[in-house]
Amino acid sequence: MSKHQSKETSIAIIGAGISGLSCATELKALGFQVQLFEKSRGPSGRMSTRNGDNWSADHGAQYFTARDPLFIQELNTWISAGVAAEWHPRLKAYDDSQWRESSSSENRYVGIPSMNSPGKYLAKNLSIEFGKTINSIFRQNNQWCLRSLETGNIEQQFDYLILALPAPQTFTLTNLVDPSIAEKNKVDIFGCWTVMASFAEKQNIPFDAAFINGQMINWIARNNSKLGREGLETWTIHANPQWSQQWIELDKDEAGKRILECAKGLGLDCQNAQLSIHRWRYASGYLGTNPGFTVFDNIQLGLCGDWLHGGRVEGAWLSGFKLANEISIHTTSSNE
Ligand SMILES: Cc1cc2nc3c(=O)[nH]c(=O)nc-3n(C[C@H](O)[C@H](O)[C@H](O)COP(=O)(O)OP(=O)(O)OC[C@H]3O[C@@H](n4cnc5c(N)ncnc54)[C@H](O)[C@@H]3O)c2cc1C
Repeated sequence: MSKHQSKETSIAIIGAGISGLSCATELKALGFQVQLFEKSRGPSGRMSTRNGDNWSADHGAQYFTARDPLFIQELNTWISAGVAAEWHPRLKAYDDSQWRESSSSENRYVGIPSMNSPGKYLAKNLSIEFGKTINSIFRQNNQWCLRSLETGNIEQQFDYLILALPAPQTFTLTNLVDPSIAEKNKVDIFGCWTVMASFAEKQNIPFDAAFINGQMINWIARNNSKLGREGLETWTIHANPQWSQQWIELDKDEAGKRILECAKGLGLDCQNAQLSIHRWRYASGYLGTNPGFTVFDNIQLGLCGDWLHGGRVEGAWLSGFKLANEISIHTTSSNE
């Protein structure tokens, strides 16, 4: 098949998190026609930022690392475009009831001015329908048909379908066409209870971020320590994956109360803070086999996302990028 023919292959991607965005960007560069569908009002998924009354906070991914040369190259384009930068927090760790300086020497990066900036940057060049929750997929005459919760059947049909979603949301859709996909890819996914606390006055806390061990909280960070953050001093507090998963159905206020009690014990008293609480149902977890991505050639279906590539931002981006190249190779060679 010539490059010209591959350009006529239409591809739908469900999910405009960083894996869907990287996959779409690469497919477009390879000459495919790509249409994304995203249930939220904006791109970036779990690389997200909540905005409040004169405050904002990254409440999903806190920072990301870059180890793979492909992702380092991508990160450099984000840095050149002014949508990412290195973060140098005063970093502590807490274990066995003791505070210590963190010994981690990792380079950490954040979106600028907010964690969703790299996603917004990629989204600018893509065709994305926001506010479209795809709740049904099926095949008809070798084409993929989609239905959205908000507007019913999607008019366009597609040659290829990519799901760039957390594992449970992937399986909700694949179960409609092949339940064995979920059965063969069992993965433990954990939620994350998150509290954002903004203060009228600067807090006298001797760190910008801390890894907490042995407590229900595992992370505290001062959002304003990241470049470009304006407004009230705001802290993000994450409960650990095991505690969050165990109490995922807890009432929001009760979850917040328990997290704040723990934070107070660690020196962050949020009594006078303005609070916002968020429950991430699917925050973390990945397949130990680390396949990178998955392709079902017989039905022209591809899966990508952090859960297939070690979790985290870098893995998600790589998963989408590698899937795009696999599809390109296969689409080209199978028609030659
Ligand atoms: C609390 C928390 C802390 C984290 N901390 C870090 C960290 O410090 N460092 C790090 O590297 N990573 C961190 N991560 C993980 C990181 O955010 C993810 O690995 C990465 O963002 C996943 O990208 P993704 O594209 O695979 O999935 P997502 O970002 O989840 O993207 C999936 C997209 O699909 C959309 N969607 C879902 N269902 C549908 C549907 N039916 N129809 C249409 N759209 C749909 C969603 O709205 C979402 O936009 C954290 C995550 C959380 C939640």
